[in-house]
Amino acid sequence: MSDHSVLHVKGRVLAGPDDVRDGLWVVGGRISYDRPVGARDVRTVEGWALPGLVDAHCHVGLGAHGPVDADVAEKQALTDREAGALLIRDAGSPSDTRWVDDREDLPKIIRAGRHIARTRRYIRGYAHEIEPADLVAYVGREARRGDGWVKLVGDWIDREVGDLAPSWPREAAEAAIAEAHRLGARVTAHCFAESSLRDLVESGIDCVEHATGLTDELIPLFASRGVAIVPTLVNIATFPDLAAGGESKFPRWSAHMRRLHARRYDTVRSAHDAGIPVFVGTDAGGTLPHGLVAAEVAELVTAGIPPLAALSATTWGAREWLGRPGLVEGAPADLVVYESDPRADVRVLAAPRRVVLNGAVVS
Ligand SMILES: [Zn+2]
Repeated sequence: MSDHSVLHVKGRVLAGPDDVRDGLWVVGGRISYDRPVGARDVRTVEGWALPGLVDAHCHVGLGAHGPVDADVAEKQALTDREAGALLIRDAGSPSDTRWVDDREDLPKIIRAGRHIARTRRYIRGYAHEIEPADLVAYVGREARRGDGWVKLVGDWIDREVGDLAPSWPREAAEAAIAEAHRLGARVTAHCFAESSLRDLVESGIDCVEHATGLTDELIPLFASRGVAIVPTLVNIATFPDLAAGGESKFPRWSAHMRRLHARRYDTVRSAHDAGIPVFVGTDAGGTLPHGLVAAEVAELVTAGIPPLAALSATTWGAREWLGRPGLVEGAPADLVVYESDPRADVRVLAAPRRVVLNGAVVS
Protein backbone atom coordinates (compact mmCIF):
# COMPACT_ATOMS: atom_id res chain seq x y z
CA MET A 1 0.00 0.00 0.00
CA SER A 2 2.77 2.42 0.89
CA ASP A 3 4.06 2.82 -2.65
CA HIS A 4 5.98 5.78 -4.03
CA SER A 5 3.02 7.76 -5.28
CA VAL A 6 2.19 10.97 -3.48
CA LEU A 7 -1.13 12.00 -2.03
CA HIS A 8 -2.00 15.64 -1.47
CA VAL A 9 -4.70 16.27 1.12
CA LYS A 10 -5.97 19.72 0.19
CA GLY A 11 -8.13 21.80 2.43
CA ARG A 12 -8.11 22.15 6.19
CA VAL A 13 -6.22 19.68 8.35
CA LEU A 14 -7.48 19.50 11.93
CA ALA A 15 -4.20 18.38 13.50
CA GLY A 16 -5.31 19.33 17.01
CA PRO A 17 -8.12 21.12 18.82
CA ASP A 18 -6.26 24.42 18.25
CA ASP A 19 -4.05 23.36 15.38
CA VAL A 20 -5.57 23.84 11.93
CA ARG A 21 -3.25 23.59 8.93
CA ASP A 22 -3.48 24.11 5.20
CA GLY A 23 -3.18 20.68 3.71
CA LEU A 24 -0.68 17.87 4.07
CA TRP A 25 1.23 15.44 1.89
CA VAL A 26 1.48 11.68 2.11
CA VAL A 27 4.80 10.30 0.98
CA GLY A 28 5.70 6.63 1.40
CA GLY A 29 2.58 6.17 3.50
CA ARG A 30 3.61 8.86 5.99
CA ILE A 31 2.55 12.41 6.75
CA SER A 32 4.59 15.36 5.61
CA TYR A 33 3.76 19.04 5.91
CA ASP A 34 6.32 19.94 3.25
CA ARG A 35 5.53 19.58 -0.40
CA PRO A 36 7.83 16.79 -1.62
CA VAL A 37 10.46 17.95 -4.11
CA GLY A 38 9.82 16.85 -7.67
CA ALA A 39 6.61 15.03 -6.81
CA ARG A 40 4.96 13.46 -9.84
CA ASP A 41 1.98 11.20 -10.01
CA VAL A 42 0.19 13.23 -7.32
CA ARG A 43 -3.31 12.22 -6.30
CA THR A 44 -5.48 14.80 -4.57
CA VAL A 45 -8.25 14.56 -2.01
CA GLU A 46 -9.97 17.65 -0.74
CA GLY A 47 -11.94 18.55 2.37
CA TRP A 48 -11.63 18.65 6.15
CA ALA A 49 -9.16 16.10 7.51
CA LEU A 50 -9.20 14.51 10.95
CA PRO A 51 -6.91 11.84 12.36
CA GLY A 52 -8.33 8.34 11.83
CA LEU A 53 -11.12 7.98 14.37
CA VAL A 54 -10.63 5.93 17.53
CA ASP A 55 -13.22 3.42 18.67
CA ALA A 56 -11.99 2.79 22.21
CA HIS A 57 -14.46 0.01 22.96
CA CYS A 58 -14.91 -2.36 20.09
CA HIS A 59 -14.70 -6.14 19.73
CA VAL A 60 -13.20 -7.65 16.59
CA GLY A 61 -13.56 -11.42 16.36
CA LEU A 62 -16.56 -11.53 18.66
CA GLY A 63 -20.13 -12.40 17.66
CA ALA A 64 -23.40 -12.86 19.54
CA HIS A 65 -22.35 -16.31 20.74
CA GLY A 66 -18.62 -15.85 21.21
CA PRO A 67 -15.67 -16.20 18.84
CA VAL A 68 -16.21 -15.86 15.07
CA ASP A 69 -14.16 -17.00 12.06
CA ALA A 70 -11.43 -14.83 10.58
CA ASP A 71 -13.58 -13.92 7.54
CA VAL A 72 -16.29 -12.52 9.83
CA ALA A 73 -13.69 -10.66 11.90
CA GLU A 74 -12.29 -9.22 8.67
CA LYS A 75 -15.75 -7.94 7.67
CA GLN A 76 -16.15 -6.35 11.11
CA ALA A 77 -12.81 -4.56 10.76
CA LEU A 78 -13.68 -3.41 7.22
CA THR A 79 -17.01 -2.02 8.44
CA ASP A 80 -15.18 -0.05 11.12
CA ARG A 81 -12.74 1.19 8.47
CA GLU A 82 -15.56 2.39 6.19
CA ALA A 83 -16.87 4.42 9.14
CA GLY A 84 -13.45 6.04 9.57
CA ALA A 85 -12.48 4.10 12.72
CA LEU A 86 -8.82 3.37 12.02
CA LEU A 87 -7.64 2.75 15.58
CA ILE A 88 -9.53 0.28 17.72
CA ARG A 89 -9.03 -0.53 21.36
CA ASP A 90 -10.40 -4.06 21.43
CA ALA A 91 -12.09 -4.32 24.82
CA GLY A 92 -11.93 -8.11 24.94
CA SER A 93 -12.08 -10.80 22.29
CA PRO A 94 -12.07 -14.60 22.53
CA SER A 95 -10.54 -14.82 19.01
CA ASP A 96 -6.89 -14.49 18.08
CA THR A 97 -6.88 -11.48 15.76
CA ARG A 98 -3.10 -11.05 15.70
CA TRP A 99 -3.16 -11.67 11.93
CA VAL A 100 -4.80 -8.24 11.50
CA ASP A 101 -1.45 -6.65 12.41
CA ASP A 102 -0.01 -7.89 9.11
CA ARG A 103 -2.78 -6.26 7.08
CA GLU A 104 -1.99 -2.68 6.10
CA ASP A 105 -5.53 -2.34 4.78
CA LEU A 106 -7.21 -3.00 8.15
CA PRO A 107 -7.56 -0.73 11.18
CA LYS A 108 -4.89 -0.90 13.86
CA ILE A 109 -5.96 -2.81 16.96
CA ILE A 110 -4.86 -2.37 20.57
CA ARG A 111 -5.93 -5.55 22.33
CA ALA A 112 -7.01 -6.27 25.89
CA GLY A 113 -6.80 -10.06 25.52
CA ARG A 114 -9.93 -11.96 26.46
CA HIS A 115 -12.49 -10.69 29.00
CA ILE A 116 -12.02 -12.04 32.52
CA ALA A 117 -15.32 -12.61 34.34
CA ARG A 118 -16.59 -14.36 37.45
CA THR A 119 -18.04 -17.82 36.86
CA ARG A 120 -21.49 -17.61 35.16
CA ARG A 121 -21.45 -13.83 35.60
CA TYR A 122 -21.21 -12.67 31.98
CA ILE A 123 -22.53 -13.37 28.48
CA ARG A 124 -21.89 -17.03 27.73
CA GLY A 125 -18.95 -17.82 25.45
CA TYR A 126 -17.18 -14.45 25.76
CA ALA A 127 -14.95 -14.54 28.81
CA HIS A 128 -12.60 -16.63 30.86
CA GLU A 129 -14.99 -17.42 33.69
CA ILE A 130 -13.03 -17.89 36.89
CA GLU A 131 -13.06 -17.48 40.67
CA PRO A 132 -11.20 -14.75 42.60
CA ALA A 133 -8.33 -17.05 43.63
CA ASP A 134 -7.33 -17.36 39.95
CA LEU A 135 -7.72 -13.70 39.02
CA VAL A 136 -4.06 -12.66 39.36
CA ALA A 137 -2.89 -15.57 37.19
CA TYR A 138 -5.44 -14.83 34.45
CA VAL A 139 -4.71 -11.13 34.48
CA GLY A 140 -1.00 -11.90 34.10
CA ARG A 141 -1.72 -14.18 31.16
CA GLU A 142 -3.99 -11.73 29.33
CA ALA A 143 -1.59 -8.84 30.04
CA ARG A 144 1.10 -10.80 28.20
CA ARG A 145 -1.26 -11.65 25.32
CA GLY A 146 -2.67 -8.15 24.85
CA ASP A 147 -1.30 -4.82 23.72
CA GLY A 148 -1.09 -3.04 27.05
CA TRP A 149 -4.63 -3.51 28.36
CA VAL A 150 -6.53 -6.08 30.40
CA LYS A 151 -10.34 -6.26 30.52
CA LEU A 152 -12.25 -7.32 33.62
CA VAL A 153 -15.98 -7.74 33.97
CA GLY A 154 -16.44 -5.69 37.14
CA ASP A 155 -20.11 -6.34 37.77
CA TRP A 156 -22.98 -8.35 36.38
CA ILE A 157 -26.33 -9.65 37.53
CA ASP A 158 -26.07 -11.86 40.60
CA ARG A 159 -29.06 -14.16 40.16
CA GLU A 160 -29.27 -14.86 43.89
CA VAL A 161 -29.47 -11.16 44.69
CA GLY A 162 -31.65 -10.45 41.64
CA ASP A 163 -29.66 -7.31 40.85
CA LEU A 164 -26.30 -6.09 39.59
CA ALA A 165 -23.52 -6.86 42.05
CA PRO A 166 -19.70 -6.57 42.06
CA SER A 167 -17.86 -9.54 40.57
CA TRP A 168 -14.66 -9.38 42.63
CA PRO A 169 -13.78 -8.92 46.27
CA ARG A 170 -11.70 -5.79 46.85
CA GLU A 171 -8.49 -7.74 47.72
CA ALA A 172 -8.69 -9.79 44.52
CA ALA A 173 -9.17 -6.68 42.37
CA GLU A 174 -6.29 -4.91 44.09
CA ALA A 175 -3.88 -7.79 43.58
CA ALA A 176 -4.95 -8.24 39.95
CA ILE A 177 -4.57 -4.57 39.04
CA ALA A 178 -1.15 -4.47 40.73
CA GLU A 179 -0.08 -7.51 38.69
CA ALA A 180 -1.20 -5.89 35.43
CA HIS A 181 0.66 -2.69 36.28
CA ARG A 182 3.77 -4.70 37.16
CA LEU A 183 3.59 -6.16 33.63
CA GLY A 184 3.12 -2.72 32.08
CA ALA A 185 -0.56 -3.15 31.21
CA ARG A 186 -3.46 -0.86 32.05
CA VAL A 187 -6.72 -2.30 33.36
CA THR A 188 -10.29 -1.51 32.43
CA ALA A 189 -13.54 -3.01 33.63
CA HIS A 190 -17.10 -3.39 32.45
CA CYS A 191 -19.26 -1.75 35.14
CA PHE A 192 -22.95 -0.90 34.95
CA ALA A 193 -23.70 -0.51 38.67
CA GLU A 194 -22.73 1.98 41.36
CA SER A 195 -21.49 -0.65 43.80
CA SER A 196 -18.43 -1.92 41.92
CA LEU A 197 -16.84 1.44 41.19
CA ARG A 198 -15.26 2.63 44.43
CA ASP A 199 -13.31 -0.58 45.07
CA LEU A 200 -11.96 -0.68 41.52
CA VAL A 201 -10.92 2.96 41.47
CA GLU A 202 -9.31 2.77 44.91
CA SER A 203 -7.54 -0.38 43.70
CA GLY A 204 -5.90 1.67 40.95
CA ILE A 205 -7.95 0.82 37.85
CA ASP A 206 -7.16 2.96 34.79
CA CYS A 207 -10.50 3.06 32.99
CA VAL A 208 -14.12 1.99 33.37
CA GLU A 209 -16.37 0.91 30.49
CA HIS A 210 -20.02 2.07 30.45
CA ALA A 211 -19.73 3.61 33.95
CA THR A 212 -23.50 4.17 34.11
CA GLY A 213 -23.32 3.87 37.91
CA LEU A 214 -21.24 7.02 38.41
CA THR A 215 -22.77 9.16 41.17
CA ASP A 216 -22.09 12.67 42.45
CA GLU A 217 -20.12 11.02 45.22
CA LEU A 218 -17.95 8.90 42.93
CA ILE A 219 -17.28 11.45 40.20
CA PRO A 220 -14.70 13.47 42.21
CA LEU A 221 -12.89 10.22 43.03
CA PHE A 222 -12.59 9.33 39.34
CA ALA A 223 -11.57 12.88 38.47
CA SER A 224 -8.87 13.15 41.13
CA ARG A 225 -7.34 9.82 40.08
CA GLY A 226 -7.63 10.53 36.36
CA VAL A 227 -9.65 7.36 35.70
CA ALA A 228 -11.11 7.53 32.18
CA ILE A 229 -14.55 6.35 31.16
CA VAL A 230 -15.84 5.00 27.84
CA PRO A 231 -19.62 5.41 28.15
CA THR A 232 -20.73 3.44 25.03
CA LEU A 233 -24.03 5.35 24.86
CA VAL A 234 -25.14 3.49 21.72
CA ASN A 235 -25.02 0.37 23.86
CA ILE A 236 -26.70 1.96 26.90
CA ALA A 237 -29.62 2.80 24.57
CA THR A 238 -30.43 -0.94 24.59
CA PHE A 239 -30.97 -1.04 28.39
CA PRO A 240 -34.79 -0.61 28.20
CA ASP A 241 -35.02 -3.65 25.90
CA LEU A 242 -32.77 -5.69 28.18
CA ALA A 243 -34.84 -4.58 31.16
CA ALA A 244 -38.08 -5.63 29.45
CA GLY A 245 -36.60 -9.04 28.66
CA GLY A 246 -35.59 -9.68 32.28
CA GLU A 247 -38.64 -8.12 33.93
CA SER A 248 -40.50 -11.29 34.95
CA LYS A 249 -37.49 -13.11 36.45
CA PHE A 250 -35.44 -10.20 37.82
CA PRO A 251 -37.70 -7.18 38.45
CA ARG A 252 -35.17 -5.47 40.73
CA TRP A 253 -32.44 -5.74 38.11
CA SER A 254 -34.83 -4.45 35.43
CA ALA A 255 -35.77 -1.41 37.48
CA HIS A 256 -32.09 -0.73 38.16
CA MET A 257 -31.20 -0.91 34.46
CA ARG A 258 -34.03 1.51 33.65
CA ARG A 259 -32.81 4.01 36.25
CA LEU A 260 -29.25 3.84 34.91
CA HIS A 261 -30.57 4.38 31.39
CA ALA A 262 -32.81 7.30 32.39
CA ARG A 263 -29.92 9.30 33.85
CA ARG A 264 -27.26 8.30 31.31
CA TYR A 265 -26.85 11.72 29.67
CA ASP A 266 -26.66 13.51 33.03
CA THR A 267 -24.07 10.98 34.19
CA VAL A 268 -21.82 11.47 31.17
CA ARG A 269 -22.12 15.25 31.15
CA SER A 270 -21.40 15.49 34.90
CA ALA A 271 -18.34 13.25 34.44
CA HIS A 272 -17.03 15.42 31.63
CA ASP A 273 -17.74 18.65 33.51
CA ALA A 274 -15.81 17.34 36.52
CA GLY A 275 -12.75 16.67 34.35
CA ILE A 276 -13.03 12.88 33.93
CA PRO A 277 -11.51 11.90 30.56
CA VAL A 278 -14.36 10.58 28.38
CA PHE A 279 -13.63 8.59 25.22
CA VAL A 280 -15.67 7.28 22.31
CA GLY A 281 -16.45 3.57 22.25
CA THR A 282 -19.27 1.79 20.45
CA ASP A 283 -19.19 -1.70 21.98
CA ALA A 284 -19.46 -3.13 18.46
CA GLY A 285 -19.25 -6.90 18.27
CA GLY A 286 -21.34 -9.23 20.32
CA THR A 287 -24.82 -7.85 19.76
CA LEU A 288 -24.16 -4.36 18.33
CA PRO A 289 -23.08 -3.87 14.71
CA HIS A 290 -19.71 -2.39 13.76
CA GLY A 291 -19.30 1.04 12.17
CA LEU A 292 -21.22 3.13 14.74
CA VAL A 293 -18.41 5.49 15.74
CA ALA A 294 -20.15 8.59 14.34
CA ALA A 295 -23.36 7.69 16.17
CA GLU A 296 -21.45 7.48 19.46
CA VAL A 297 -19.86 10.90 18.92
CA ALA A 298 -23.34 12.31 18.23
CA GLU A 299 -24.61 10.69 21.45
CA LEU A 300 -21.87 12.39 23.48
CA VAL A 301 -22.96 15.73 22.02
CA THR A 302 -26.59 14.90 22.84
CA ALA A 303 -25.44 14.23 26.41
CA GLY A 304 -24.15 17.80 26.55
CA ILE A 305 -20.45 17.37 25.82
CA PRO A 306 -19.25 20.28 23.63
CA PRO A 307 -18.65 19.23 19.99
CA LEU A 308 -14.91 19.95 20.10
CA ALA A 309 -14.50 17.76 23.20
CA ALA A 310 -16.62 15.00 21.65
CA LEU A 311 -14.40 15.12 18.55
CA SER A 312 -11.28 14.99 20.70
CA ALA A 313 -12.71 11.91 22.43
CA THR A 314 -12.39 10.03 19.13
CA THR A 315 -9.36 11.82 17.65
CA TRP A 316 -6.61 13.90 19.31
CA GLY A 317 -7.42 13.14 22.95
CA ALA A 318 -8.12 9.46 22.37
CA ARG A 319 -4.89 8.94 20.42
CA GLU A 320 -2.84 10.67 23.07
CA TRP A 321 -4.47 8.52 25.76
CA LEU A 322 -3.67 5.36 23.81
CA GLY A 323 -0.14 6.50 22.96
CA ARG A 324 -0.67 6.63 19.20
CA PRO A 325 0.20 9.58 16.95
CA GLY A 326 -2.29 11.82 15.22
CA LEU A 327 -1.59 13.99 12.18
CA VAL A 328 2.04 14.68 13.00
CA GLU A 329 5.04 14.84 10.70
CA GLY A 330 6.32 11.35 9.91
CA ALA A 331 3.38 9.45 11.40
CA PRO A 332 1.53 6.79 9.38
CA ALA A 333 -1.05 8.60 7.24
CA ASP A 334 -4.27 7.40 8.90
CA LEU A 335 -6.89 10.06 8.33
CA VAL A 336 -10.46 10.72 7.31
CA VAL A 337 -11.58 13.54 5.03
CA TYR A 338 -15.02 15.13 5.31
CA GLU A 339 -17.03 17.48 3.14
CA SER A 340 -17.50 20.13 5.83
CA ASP A 341 -16.05 21.21 9.15
CA PRO A 342 -16.81 18.50 11.76
CA ARG A 343 -16.40 21.09 14.54
CA ALA A 344 -19.46 22.90 13.22
CA ASP A 345 -21.59 19.75 13.19
CA VAL A 346 -20.26 16.35 14.27
CA ARG A 347 -22.95 14.60 12.22
CA VAL A 348 -20.68 15.00 9.19
CA LEU A 349 -18.65 12.10 10.68
CA ALA A 350 -21.39 9.74 9.50
CA ALA A 351 -20.40 10.35 5.87
CA PRO A 352 -16.62 10.27 5.31
CA ARG A 353 -15.66 11.53 1.87
CA ARG A 354 -12.35 9.64 1.87
CA VAL A 355 -10.67 7.23 4.27
CA VAL A 356 -6.87 7.05 4.10
CA LEU A 357 -5.09 4.21 5.90
CA ASN A 358 -1.31 3.81 5.91
CA GLY A 359 -1.28 6.38 3.11
CA ALA A 360 -3.65 4.48 0.82
CA VAL A 361 -7.09 5.82 -0.09
CA VAL A 362 -9.18 2.83 0.96
CA SER A 363 -12.63 4.31 0.45
ZN1 LIG B 1 -17.89 -4.58 25.26
